[in-house]
Order: sequence, then C-alpha cells, then structure tokens
Amino acid sequence: MRNLILFGPPGAGKGTQSAFLVEHYNLVHLSTGDIFRANIKGQTELGTLAQSYMNQGQLVPDDVTIRMLESEVDKHPEAAGFIFDGFPRTTAQAAALDAFLEGKGQTIAAMLALEVPEDELKTRLLARAETSGRPDDADPAVIQKRIDVYNAETAPVADHYRAAGKYQGIDGVGSIADITARLTNAIGA
Ligand code: AMP
Repeated sequence: MRNLILFGPPGAGKGTQSAFLVEHYNLVHLSTGDIFRANIKGQTELGTLAQSYMNQGQLVPDDVTIRMLESEVDKHPEAAGFIFDGFPRTTAQAAALDAFLEGKGQTIAAMLALEVPEDELKTRLLARAETSGRPDDADPAVIQKRIDVYNAETAPVADHYRAAGKYQGIDGVGSIADITARLTNAIGA
C-alpha cells in the first residue's frame, strides 16, 4: 500500500493536486474538509457540529475528526493506498493515524508538503471564494484565523514526519501542471 499525506496551509493546492494524484497512483482520496462539507449538506449531526467550527476557521475537535477518518478508511478495504488531504492537522491526529495504520500493518510512505507564501494563500482563497461557495473562503478574518491555526497547531505535524524521515517539501508556487510534476517526481513511480 502507498499511503500519502498531502500537507500544506489552506489554499496551498492540496485539493487540486489530490485530484490528479488519486488518478495517477490509483489511490483513495480522503479529504476531511470535503467529508465535513458533505455532512453539512446532508444536514447530519456531524455536519451541524463541524459547521460551527468551520465557519469560524477553527479546527473540529480531534476525537470527532479521528473517529470519522478511521471509519472512512475502513470503508475502503480494497484500497491500494490513501491520499490524506487536510488530515492530520494536529499532532494528536498524527499519533492516532500512525497507531491506526500500524494496527493494520501499514504506514505512511511520505508527507508531501506544499509550500506557498502567506500573501499568495490569501489571494488564492479570496479568488476561490468566487466559485467555491465556501463561507470560510469569503471572509478575510476567517482566512487569517485559518492561517493562524495552521501555524500554531498544524505546522508542528510536519516535525513529526520530518523526524521519521518522511517529510518532503514541495514548492507550491507555479502552474498546476508544474506543481503536479514536482509531486510525481518526489513520489516516484
Ligand atoms: P479544508 O477543506 O481542509 O480547508 O478544511 C475546512 C475546515 O474543515 C477547516 O478549517 C476545519 O474547520 C475543518 N477541518 C478539516 N479537516 C480537519 C481536521 N483534520 N481537523 C480538524 N478540523 C478539520
């Protein structure tokens, strides 16, 4: 199995690049943000809970997020591997993911971290708001909150995988195709 984490701040291009990588490597894409948004749309209990955090740019609590992610992984026993997008976002989530995979005799192969300067992130997110319909993209204060939460709570997750020798930084500025090429180069055949 090939399990990859596509990492980076909000607006780094994780969703865009995931779409290509899942095709190319035949992986199952698990985006916790997408799953939460599907739950909001479906008006589930989980959606109602997640929405209150998401609209403020805050993280959904770890216990809820971890349980949801694990149940999504378990829905795909036939998968050749997963691409985790937007998860893990805290060191507690990273520890839970490692333990969960280890219980299945699996591991994370690599963390691919898209690196984009903060000014460019803000510009991209505001542009995306025009088409995404996401309330958390449309409000500059919420964008700033998401970036602050990323720096405080999510960036340390990179150290966890760096210590394990699994971290690969990827320049996330350029055309979509250029960045895809950098990612596939890093992942290999
Ligand atoms: P994203 O689609 O990855 O930008 O995520 C949108 C929002 O969903 C985030 O700002 C969080 O509120 C929530 N979210 C997504 N993934 C996670 C996660 N792994 N842990 C906690 N909250 C998350």
